[in-house]
Amino acid sequence: MSNKIAERVKGLKGSGIREFFDVAEQMEGAISLGVGEPDFVTPWSIREACIFSLEKGYTSYTSNWGLLELREAISERTYRESGVFYDPEGEILVTTGVSEAFDLALRAVVNPGDEVVLHEPSYVSYKPCTVFAGGTPVCVETRVEDEFKLRAEQLAERVTEKTKAVVLNYPNNPTGAALSRKELEEIAEVAEERDLVVISDEIYGSLTYGDNGDSGERGRGHTCFSSLNGMRERTVLLNGFSKAYAMTGWRIGYAAGNRELLEAMMKIHQYVMLCAPITAQKAALEALSPRCDCETEKMVEEYNRRRRLMLAGLREVGLECFEPKGAFYTFPSVESTGLSSEEFAKRLLLEEKVVVIPGSVFGACGEGFVRCSYAVSQYEIKEALERIGRFLEGLEGGGRGLRGEGV
Ligand code: PLP
Repeated sequence: MSNKIAERVKGLKGSGIREFFDVAEQMEGAISLGVGEPDFVTPWSIREACIFSLEKGYTSYTSNWGLLELREAISERTYRESGVFYDPEGEILVTTGVSEAFDLALRAVVNPGDEVVLHEPSYVSYKPCTVFAGGTPVCVETRVEDEFKLRAEQLAERVTEKTKAVVLNYPNNPTGAALSRKELEEIAEVAEERDLVVISDEIYGSLTYGDNGDSGERGRGHTCFSSLNGMRERTVLLNGFSKAYAMTGWRIGYAAGNRELLEAMMKIHQYVMLCAPITAQKAALEALSPRCDCETEKMVEEYNRRRRLMLAGLREVGLECFEPKGAFYTFPSVESTGLSSEEFAKRLLLEEKVVVIPGSVFGACGEGFVRCSYAVSQYEIKEALERIGRFLEGLEGGGRGLRGEGV
């Protein structure tokens, strides 16, 4: 059958994250800092809204664009938080997660051979989705010295006449990096000068912890890229419910942007997806009600406590780590151990039963780092840090031999 599989799929490696989870799942007592999703359950009122919707018999398709009342709520929320208005009729599309919205955005703008600039380390789906869309990914390596922020000059250097779009993901998975308004403005200047479409994945926008020079209504310092001068028309804003409301399993997100571009995305969406599930849309509507604001606040406060715990703990056991300002990831350096990030992760798993994700999974410049998620309890963070400390002491004492086979 292998000769029947399309070349562009055959050539792609599977996500490097999965294999670590598979091993950990079989391992009693393992602690996973590998997770990329909230450990909270979706807040009760959201679950209840879903149950009520089923009781009332809402089981049909919706408009391809999504329920109008949900689009109105998304529009209202986006305006309240960033000052950018999107018309619920034609400028907002409800999708099955940011994942689908990202794929649609690429397929709507990329012609075969167009280049798409991605900053790395990056979320594992960006490169493959660019390839699936027929585009050529052009990766810009961000550096720990810059706290993994994409610099405007780095972007400018990599733009050619073939460049169609740039993907931005701040706050970032896997590094936790966030950009200030000023830094984003510099990127916006390049986007303007070089006439780029900007696909801005802001799925972690509600999960920020420091002051990044902005004073959004929620006061946590996230700047929505399309709120910058001239950017609304060239930006596809992607956001969703998975992270801010602990709703990963519901598969619900949205895209907002220029009417023509959204129309193009909708054309693809209506044929491949038809619409997002109505039950998830009803639940998302409840998530956007003011009743739920405090739910995200509570989660952010707890993530922040864990962030501090994790950061202090990593530094204490001797791993250098810059302070992440968003999402729920830390990205410590493991270079001092002399192990590659994959060796480090494999040995830590086998010797101390702690899952971390090798930075190399997120692009070549992630080598020398590992991603540690703090979307786990404080107890687990403390226990994992103790184990990491023991593991590092073992390495200093000559190590216990590489037993990485089979992972
Ligand atoms: N974008 C980023 C940066 C992510 O980290 C993830 C999930 O981990 C997604 C998108 C997928 O989001 P969704 O669950 O809305 O499809």
